[in-house]
Amino acid sequence: MAHDPRSGAPTGGRRAITSLQNDSVKLIRSLEMRKTRRETGLFIAEGASVLMTARDNGWSPRMLVAGPGADAGSVGEALQRWAEAAGCDRLDVSAAVLEKLAAKDNPQSVLGVFEQRWTSLPPTTIAHSGSSLPPLWVVLEEIRDPGNLGTILRTVDAAGASGIILAGNTCDPFSREAVRASMGSIFAVPLTRTDRTGLLALARAWTGDVVGTHLDGKLDYRGASYRAPALLIMGNEGAGLSEEVAAACGKLVRIPMAGRLDSLNLAVATALMLFEIRRPHLAL
Ligand code: SAM
Repeated sequence: MAHDPRSGAPTGGRRAITSLQNDSVKLIRSLEMRKTRRETGLFIAEGASVLMTARDNGWSPRMLVAGPGADAGSVGEALQRWAEAAGCDRLDVSAAVLEKLAAKDNPQSVLGVFEQRWTSLPPTTIAHSGSSLPPLWVVLEEIRDPGNLGTILRTVDAAGASGIILAGNTCDPFSREAVRASMGSIFAVPLTRTDRTGLLALARAWTGDVVGTHLDGKLDYRGASYRAPALLIMGNEGAGLSEEVAAACGKLVRIPMAGRLDSLNLAVATALMLFEIRRPHLAL
């Protein structure tokens, strides 16, 4: 079966690669660029434990890339079995090739190429069965920092929230930095996207509480109610929530602060909100 370097369509074989001119190597390197990730719908995840998380969440790689010795040990063998069962390309690359493919800081000896997954917007009425956690979607309006986005993916996963809606012009959740900061939660958290008009329509039709977080909010976040299905809306790192979106929220809450700064980091504020909303439902 021929290999399609642009789409990364798998051939299902195992190959040793020592050349940087190899088509698969060139494709993987080009996934550094957002444009290529958009065109191919692919992304890279690095590290054995992150790849095991992908496996455990039912994902299959398009390609598995292993540096010298990376297939040794029980985890290395489990990854190879997973890749073989998925029928994906397995590339055994030389140390020199791996150096060009892996992250510069904290490089890993194994990485996978995956197809991005986007879900559709959640229904405005979400059924809630008694045994599961109440539905809770997080909207990130115009988020710009991939490190923040990865951290929020991880936190949404930890709080058992339903998923993330990226609204407007945002950074890419499938960038190397966001994927790495998510610590594998990119494979567990449903992701969807919309523009501001779509978000405003969703907020208008939403049947539970639509809660915006705002530095001018009059409600203390610890005293507010969060009726399910809840829609929690967080603003951009620099500008906060847009006026239109803030006006569409049923309530605006604020996290009280001491000190000289006027706001918290977006990922920190999201974590505080999520664990406050989940407080009645999480126990040791
Ligand atoms: N200068 C921006 C503003 O005026 O909103 C600050 C943006 S803040 C860094 C990014 C986002 O984190 C805010 O839009 C809000 O969603 C959330 N946030 C940060 N600190 C907050 C606080 N004390 N209360 C409520 N939300 C907060």
